[in-house]
Amino acid sequence: MDVRAQLSMVFHLDKCLGCHTCSVACKNVWTDRRGAEYMWWNNVETKPGTGFPTQWEDQDAYRGGWERTGDSLQLRSTGRARVVANIFHHPHLPTIDDYYEPWTYEYERLFTAPQQDDQPTARPISLITGKPMVPEAGPNWDDDLGGSPVYAEHDPNLAALTEIERRELFAIERLVFFYLPRTCNHCLNPACVAACPSGAIYKRGEDGIVLIDQSRCRGWRSCVAACPYKKSFYNWASGKSEKCILCFPRIESGQAPACFHACPGRVRYLGVLLYDADRIRPAASANAGSLVDAQRSMLLDPFDPAVIAEAARCGIAPSTLDAARRSPVDRFVRQWKLALPLHPEFRTVPMLFYVPPLSPSVAHDGEARVSVKYLTSLFGGGDEAPVRYALRKEAAVRASRRAATVGDVDRATVDRLLSDAECSDAEADAIYRMTTLATAGDRFVVPPTFREQAVEMLHEGGR
Ligand code: SF4
Ligand code: SF4
Ligand code: SF4
Repeated sequence: MDVRAQLSMVFHLDKCLGCHTCSVACKNVWTDRRGAEYMWWNNVETKPGTGFPTQWEDQDAYRGGWERTGDSLQLRSTGRARVVANIFHHPHLPTIDDYYEPWTYEYERLFTAPQQDDQPTARPISLITGKPMVPEAGPNWDDDLGGSPVYAEHDPNLAALTEIERRELFAIERLVFFYLPRTCNHCLNPACVAACPSGAIYKRGEDGIVLIDQSRCRGWRSCVAACPYKKSFYNWASGKSEKCILCFPRIESGQAPACFHACPGRVRYLGVLLYDADRIRPAASANAGSLVDAQRSMLLDPFDPAVIAEAARCGIAPSTLDAARRSPVDRFVRQWKLALPLHPEFRTVPMLFYVPPLSPSVAHDGEARVSVKYLTSLFGGGDEAPVRYALRKEAAVRASRRAATVGDVDRATVDRLLSDAECSDAEADAIYRMTTLATAGDRFVVPPTFREQAVEMLHEGGR
């Protein structure tokens, strides 16, 4: 067993307001720069929808992530034979039209226009060419258009549904949508790291944050092509690639990342997960249909004496172990099995997990409003069981709270739902508290060790 610690994340989708405060917080702190205008290291998509860049989930078009051939895993974007050719031209890279052409407005005209009969206007101006333009797309262009035939019906996840199921999903009386906030997943098997010909991308040993060394990046864009989540971006002004850095300067001073701190929905949780590095490869190359279970099986119990002893042998600091025991992510992912990885079939072993949306349900019997097949395409890697399990548990917790506060669900129904979800009263209460009452200190548990190690490395002059 090779015990490692990863700073991991959970986003609770039933709580997301779609307010984009997270995206704006990140933009203001990190990408309000020339060449980075079109980048949204954090973005929030409406689902069903096409997302940003458009249809990023369609790997037949973008060829991101890994594919399993026999016993080996290969990057879909490149192979030994294609690596040099792809350096100079990559046919599957997103174009600026797949993102959007960033623009501002001619605000100056509002102040400097000469006196005239009509009000002056502020025309949109391209931030790339500096010329007037007509905006035709944006990072959240399909915001709230969950039933739109232009956007929602082109969601790649709908391929998993039959024609009848699709029609049902878009029937006006059944229309439903939800928000999907996305950042880099700081994956355990990151395609971006493997694809970089310059060796400029690395995963920090102490906390698993994936970073691009700007001094080594040569702008080949292999990471942009290889990342199936399209969370590595090319800065056309600096000629280097950039991505979410999990706000590591804030982490190193014990603070939550900017987008986490800013989130008014309190959707986001941050904490340590312990895992067995020897199991990364089996988890990444598991059979389709057992990817979620394989990823879960590599997570280690920070309360288990054998794991504690092994963690000490592997150099995990006691403060990191303590943080793992208090980690809200460990609870949501490993203990409660409520949070699931996004598109595990991309085989990058993402370390950002989502509690799937139960959405406002019509009855208190646990039926999810969003099609389970659709949610399985997002979070199940082809296996409905973990998605159904999470939804059953969410429904049971909701019913038990309704019974306690509104009184319109009888105890027999609550007991049946809790039993179906393998959930005790105590666990339902703990889930309710973490979901609704948790303070910032409960939601963000950053071990102090990460700061100490960062300072040490700074003194050593290494990275
Ligand atoms: Fe790399 Fe993409 Fe995974 Fe982030 S999400 S670590 S950019 S492969
Ligand atoms: Fe941006 Fe920091 Fe959030 Fe990453 S963690 S998306 S860098 S604000
Ligand atoms: Fe708003 Fe938080 Fe949802 Fe971002 S994750 S859109 S900040 S509620």
